[in-house]
Order: sequence, then structure tokens, then C-alpha cells
Amino acid sequence: MTKDIATPGRTTEILKKYGFLFKKSLGQNFLIDPNILRRITETAELNKNTNVIEIGPGIGALTEHLARTSKEVVAFEIDQRLLPILADTLSPYENVHIEHGDVLKANLAEVIEREFSDSEAPLKIVANLPYYVTTPIILSLLHAEVPADSMTFMLQKEVAERISAVPGTKSYGSLTIAIQFYMEASLAFIVPKNVFMPKPNVDSAIVQLVRRDKPLADVKNVEFFFEVTRAAFVSRRKTLWNNLAQKFPELKNRREEVEAKLAGINIDLKRRGETLSIPEFAMLSEELEEILKK
Ligand code: SAM
Repeated sequence: MTKDIATPGRTTEILKKYGFLFKKSLGQNFLIDPNILRRITETAELNKNTNVIEIGPGIGALTEHLARTSKEVVAFEIDQRLLPILADTLSPYENVHIEHGDVLKANLAEVIEREFSDSEAPLKIVANLPYYVTTPIILSLLHAEVPADSMTFMLQKEVAERISAVPGTKSYGSLTIAIQFYMEASLAFIVPKNVFMPKPNVDSAIVQLVRRDKPLADVKNVEFFFEVTRAAFVSRRKTLWNNLAQKFPELKNRREEVEAKLAGINIDLKRRGETLSIPEFAMLSEELEEILKK
């Protein structure tokens, strides 16, 4: 096995050789601890039958661990300056393809079809995400109809806590619901700042998302459901009624009627959004849609 890229010594050597300067605006914080990388690949439960998509390979620290433990890896990198470096550092691995470009603009289905020798093999996504764009990337991957069984992400600890939150806590909100509706989410472990070069300003954590067989709740109009969940958290201190009446002004003079309808499903308008579980939000949005039709 070749020497790990992710040691302080080897990373410094590579950066020096290519005169590479970090771009803060691209969220470039590279991992320099092989133990963390091993824990990430263990959490992702990879094996030689699994294809992997990585976002932002940097100089290849995580990529090489993915290459060693999975079937094939396709990694999206936006920074052109890293391409010659990756061609060099990843030259021992024949099962890696680097796709140059912004992952948010990529046609993932097309790349999967084109680059994996068996595009039907189980697919996982693993990434040390660029922190400036964490949420858009996760949400776009969820909605891109990418057939990934699981996603393992390094991200800001605070965002990891929001993604894996339970009702009734400060971290629980519309992001929690957007993700947990489709995926089981857990915070796998916290990562200290000193395993990165350069050190980020915030603490980090690994979250593990595993796709559910079907969404957590039955809803006919998923778009409306997400609209209602976002509205419920616009002002966290306000009651459900105040937030909903602001979003749907046509409800304002129908409070008693709404109250009576929601009493039937055990939802009190004086509650705050953060106390509602995802199945409760599903019932709420179904009722509200009916009420708004009248
Ligand atoms: N995987 C490497 C590691 O763990 O050391 C680097 C991770 S670094 C936090 C994030 C990487 O994502 C950088 O290489 C950056 O250039 C890349 N990146 C930033 N925005 C991107 C985007 N929209 N699409 C693809 N890659 C992006």
C-alpha cells in the first residue's frame, strides 16, 4: 500500500511541489489524519461491490481511502488547479475517475451511466463537504433522484446536529425534516479542528444518512408539505397558528374552523413547530390543503 496522502508531512510536500494555495471561498480544508479517514470509510460501510461518488476530492486524501475500500469512485472537483495534483497523487489507483466541475450543476445520472463500469451496482456518496455550500449540496443530492443507498458527510457540527435532531430540541427544524423525510439520519462522531489543513473556524462532525424504503410519512402533495414545514419554523418563538396565518393570510379569519379540524388530528395551534413530529406535519399539511381548497 502506498503512503497516505493525509499526513501533515505528505500533504505539505504535495502542496509545496505544486505551489498550491488554499482558496477559502471554495471551502478548502484538507484532512491530514488517516485515522479519521478510516473511521469515515467504516461508517460508510463500503465494500468491493459498492460504487462511490465523492464531492470535492481536494488532493485526494479521502479519495484514496475510498478507492482502497470500494469498487469504483467518481469524484467531482470544481477547482481546476487540483486536477494535475490529483492525476499525480491518485496515479496508483485505477478505479478512480475525476469529473471536473461544480457538483450542483452536474447531470449526476449521466455521469453515473458514463463512468461506472457497472452503473447498477449499489451506490454510496461520501464527502468532506465544502462548508460554504453544505445544505444546497445535500438537498440537491436528495432530490436529484440519485439512487444512493447512503450518504456519509463531514460537515459543520452545528449542521450535523440540525440534520440528526429529534422533535422538541433547538436543532430540530425544516432542514431536519427535509432530510429525515427520506433518510434515517445519525450523527456518527465529532471531528476536532486539528485534523484539517488549514484548521476551520468551526467544529465538524460526520453524519450518516441511510435511505428509507419509503418516505417517513404518507403525503399526497410533497411540495406543499415542505412549504408548511418551512412556514412553521419561520419565527421559532411564534405559535403554529401565527406562523401559518402569516404564510396563508386567507386563514386569518377562519381560526375557529381550523382549530376544530386540527383538534381532530390532535394538533393544537398553540404549539410551536419544533414540537411536531414528521408524521404530525404530514397530517397537518393534508388537513391544511383541504381547508385551503374550500
Ligand atoms: N476531500 C478533501 C479532503 O477531505 O481533504 C477535500 C475536502 S475540502 C473540505 C472541499 C473540496 O470541495 C475542495 O477540494 C473544493 O475545491 C471542492 N469544492 C468546493 N465547491 C465545490 C463544488 N461546488 N463542486 C465540486 N467540488 C467543490
